[in-house]
Amino acid sequence: MSSQNALSTEALSILSRLGVTPTTGTMPARSPITGEVLTHVADQGRAGTEAAIAAAQKAFKDWRNVPGPKRGELVRLWAEELRAHKADLGKLVSIEVGKVTSEGLGEVQEMIDICDFAVGLSRQLYGLTIASERPSHRMMESWHPIGVVGVISAFNFPVAVWSWNTALALVCGNAVVWKPSEKANLSALAATATLDRAIARFNAEGGNAPAGLATTVLGAREAGAALVDSPAVALVSATGSTRMGREVGPKVAARFGRCLLELGGNNAAIVGPTASLDLTLRGLAFAAMGTAGQRCTTLRRLFLHESVYDTLLPRLKAAYASVKVGNPLEQGVLVGPLIDDGALNGMQAALDQARAAGGTVHGGEVVTGLGGAYARPALVEMPSQTGPVVHETFAPILYVMKYSDFDAALDLHNAVPQGLSSSVFTNDMREAEAFLSARGSDCGIANVNIGPSGAEIGGAFGGEKETGGGRESGSDAWKAYMRRATNTINYGTTLPLAQGVVFDI
Ligand code: NAD
Repeated sequence: MSSQNALSTEALSILSRLGVTPTTGTMPARSPITGEVLTHVADQGRAGTEAAIAAAQKAFKDWRNVPGPKRGELVRLWAEELRAHKADLGKLVSIEVGKVTSEGLGEVQEMIDICDFAVGLSRQLYGLTIASERPSHRMMESWHPIGVVGVISAFNFPVAVWSWNTALALVCGNAVVWKPSEKANLSALAATATLDRAIARFNAEGGNAPAGLATTVLGAREAGAALVDSPAVALVSATGSTRMGREVGPKVAARFGRCLLELGGNNAAIVGPTASLDLTLRGLAFAAMGTAGQRCTTLRRLFLHESVYDTLLPRLKAAYASVKVGNPLEQGVLVGPLIDDGALNGMQAALDQARAAGGTVHGGEVVTGLGGAYARPALVEMPSQTGPVVHETFAPILYVMKYSDFDAALDLHNAVPQGLSSSVFTNDMREAEAFLSARGSDCGIANVNIGPSGAEIGGAFGGEKETGGGRESGSDAWKAYMRRATNTINYGTTLPLAQGVVFDI
């Protein structure tokens, strides 16, 4: 059997083990590993989304009455299903978006982690009690479910982003409609099956998870646009390019809906004179080349202090030259394919622009013969932060620049439109603290002595400026999935008004 047929057979047998038979249609599901079409699935389009929203609205009315900890029990069962199917789902993610094996599995681990987090959270959805200025009065805030949550996700985290949203949305008492990336339909179907199985078990154990509580709608942009346009969708959580966010954000705002935007990044690291270079090298290599540069948090800009430039750059070049590029399912391969030819062309175009702007490119060659869109990761020495450096190219390109003054490097660090993730490598306490301070990194994520990618679910995830401002995952990100009511209770026998206002009738 050719390796092409083998991938298709493997993908379909993973789905079959999860009880999924995809509805045949016109949308191709491809593997970037070989470029082959795995199967064709049906595009459910706008009508599919609208039907799912109507069912979700109905489901929400029941689900909001289920106690939070009981809702958490559903998510606990979901984590069990994910643990049981981790190997299969991780493999399918690798087949469909080209992640190396450990990263495919890591994506599913992230789903398990957020479920565990959400289970605990289901007993901690609390508000404040606030001192009232009036005698015999008490103020408090209550957090209530918000309604239907629409999730639109990108290809590069084809299942984890949905779980970040869904685990929290479900414990918060909401219903969810998901429009996954049209480049990762099979992973979406498999992931949905894990939740469906948990829902079936939950109901078999006496739970009351209504039909339509969590639905997945396959389709292209039009299917997602239905979530954006519908006033019945209280929160649209959209992950993808800044271009997408520019379209989605204003439309949701125009109908006074709530938006959680997780958009593009252009993440940087500053390496100071005191940095531990072994640790720094490993941190930079994973952040810049891991996932073939296709993480929103991928390291794309590097500011090296002039005193370490000539030591660290040759070591980085050696790492770039030796990293194994190829079939991500093979042991030892660290850089798999780009998602498609469009991404490969975008990478080559950015490298041409960099050369035109005075850059010296190391690596970046197209790798042929594997069927998919492969390239060696590129390291580009740039004279200044211009041209393609200020844009996000979703590919493994690292632009390297030299600096002499830390504050000037910080200014350059912040002088791009995106604001997702950032790092400083230093053993100088002043530099580290300055980087994390109000005058430091302007990103939603700022790290010391680790790279900008590979976040844990315990913290809030997201970024500023053109990254969209949304926060998902840990900390108090759950508040985006609930509405807040401020309550004032009078347990006295008179009616004093606030601010001393008198209104005697
Ligand atoms: P994309 O913007 O092409 O697509 C993302 C999703 O949005 C897809 O499901 C797509 O169908 C949908 N979509 C696109 N236009 C739409 C519209 N007008 N209305 C409704 N839905 C629409 O992004 P991609 O190529 O899949 O992913 C790569 C991008 O995502 C990169 O820019 C990356 O930085 C970003 N990303 C950001 C985060 C984050 O958390 N900040 C995480 C992952 C990826």
